[in-house]
Amino acid sequence: MKSEPRIVEVRQNVFRQNDVTARELRARFRDAGVFVISLVSSPGSGKTTLLEKTLTAMQKQWRVAALVGDLATENDARRLERSGAPVRQIVTGTVCHLDAAMVRRSLEGWDLDELDFLFIENVGNLVCPASYDLGEDMRLVLLSVTEGEDKPQKYPTIFHGADLAVITKVDLAEAVEFDRVAACGALCAVSPGLQVLEVSAKTGEGMDAFLGLLASRAITQGLAR
Ligand code: MG
Ligand code: ZN
Repeated sequence: MKSEPRIVEVRQNVFRQNDVTARELRARFRDAGVFVISLVSSPGSGKTTLLEKTLTAMQKQWRVAALVGDLATENDARRLERSGAPVRQIVTGTVCHLDAAMVRRSLEGWDLDELDFLFIENVGNLVCPASYDLGEDMRLVLLSVTEGEDKPQKYPTIFHGADLAVITKVDLAEAVEFDRVAACGALCAVSPGLQVLEVSAKTGEGMDAFLGLLASRAITQGLAR
């Protein structure tokens, strides 16, 4: 038990160092006029599919790129490259989240001035990504209709810290008897006033509203110019 205060101290230093790096990144992104959006969710909630459709659609109008975090494989990056946008994989090994230093390292050699939007797909995990600022402007948390409606209450920190909740795979809502009222109730309970959008990347339902919201947030902040 004696070593506990030491562990707490080390963790606090890790978070403090991450915050410093995230602040540097945020300043760089702002200088370059790039709007940065991160995505977090459980594994299998449809981050990569949503991102693939988003990159493909936004490319017609904007200069977009993506970083994608995963524990072991580069499969997601290969899928996202089909959109034609520049994509880099961050393989984290045993680390179950991205941190700001990983983002900074993976941006080496990229001219941020050449970008309007940068997407960062976090490792599928609803726990520790909540503690790591990546310098993003907007954090999206995804909840698929195939998950339990009470997930926000099980992982309140990540839902509380998000700027937008996206309910994914709504084309399956009826088949899995998704309880919309219960899900929205759970979201409101942990994050009152959190904006919620429903999308199906598969059918395209809700995608226009989703893409419009990202663009308007960026323009409101004077970014993506
Ligand atoms: Mg993925
Ligand atoms: Zn982690």
